[in-house]
Amino acid sequence: ISKILKELSLTETNSDAPRYAQQKAFTETEIVAALESHQIQPHFQAKLDLSSNTIVGAEALARWLHPTLGLQAPFSFIPVLEQGQYIDALTFSLLRQAVAKQQEWLEQGHKMSIAVNLSPNSLHDLSFADRLTEIVTDAGIATDNVVFEVTETAAMQDLAPALENLARLRLRGFGLSIDDFGTGFASMEQLGRIAFTELKIDRSFVSTMLEKNESRAIVEFSINMAQKLGMRSVAEGVEHGEELELLRELGCDHVQGYFVAKPVDVNAFMTQLARGNRCTAA
Ligand code: C2E
Ligand code: MG
Ligand code: MG
Ligand code: MG
Repeated sequence: ISKILKELSLTETNSDAPRYAQQKAFTETEIVAALESHQIQPHFQAKLDLSSNTIVGAEALARWLHPTLGLQAPFSFIPVLEQGQYIDALTFSLLRQAVAKQQEWLEQGHKMSIAVNLSPNSLHDLSFADRLTEIVTDAGIATDNVVFEVTETAAMQDLAPALENLARLRLRGFGLSIDDFGTGFASMEQLGRIAFTELKIDRSFVSTMLEKNESRAIVEFSINMAQKLGMRSVAEGVEHGEELELLRELGCDHVQGYFVAKPVDVNAFMTQLARGNRCTAA
């Protein structure tokens, strides 16, 4: 596998991955101003398909490029926005920026999907699915090129409207991913009520599966369950080649993690895509 990655030269662009600045507590007013002046942008982390060894998609992760304090991690602003009424504004802004980039990449011949994280609080409002759909179709992107990631816990809060929103997104053709699978407390019955298309195994299991039998069993079970239910399996937080090899043996579909590529800004991601996505026309 190190040969494959060397061929893709993805890991060498990992050194371009920006480091977070010192974190600070921000007020909602400061964050909303940053959002309005487009200081909050998506960085992209590649998803590698283990059967073709190509980049088949990317997760868009929110980053705040603070003009004086430097790069801020999502946990310094997303929890603040989640308490108020602006989390949807962040989601829409991030999705808009991500699909605009995706549109350029598709035009360049890169067949790839984009994944965007949703917040639990957004799932109460039944117009949410419509608004997401509008942003994606306005950008000229087919809905099946976009995946929404929802944590297991998020999907389960205030169940009825959440289920309705997720069902609508699915009906419109979007992919739906259970993020951080294994860390929440959803019952199989609840999960079965939503037609998820992807299961994303939490990093905590992936990073301990080589030492802990329990973790390995959970990873193996998750991959098998996904397969049986017709869902794609994705492992997050893959940091070592041995982990990737084991995931391949276990039949995992896609991997994401620092071993393959760190989340990087749009320019660095384009370089990775040019190297790691063989569908390119260029
Ligand atoms: P997540 O969706 O589970 O995203 C994966 C997180 O793991 C990202 O952290 C990513 O940088 C990190 N990661 C990826 N590979 C590795 C690895 O190999 N090792 C390690 N140690 N970490 C890895 P990030 O970007 O700080 O995001 C943290 C969480 O913040 C995300 O977890 C997601 O729940 C949330 N988030 C990020 N962007 C958005 C957004 O636009 N909207 C919402 N609602 N939530 C977001
Ligand atoms: Mg995610
Ligand atoms: Mg995750
Ligand atoms: Mg996680």
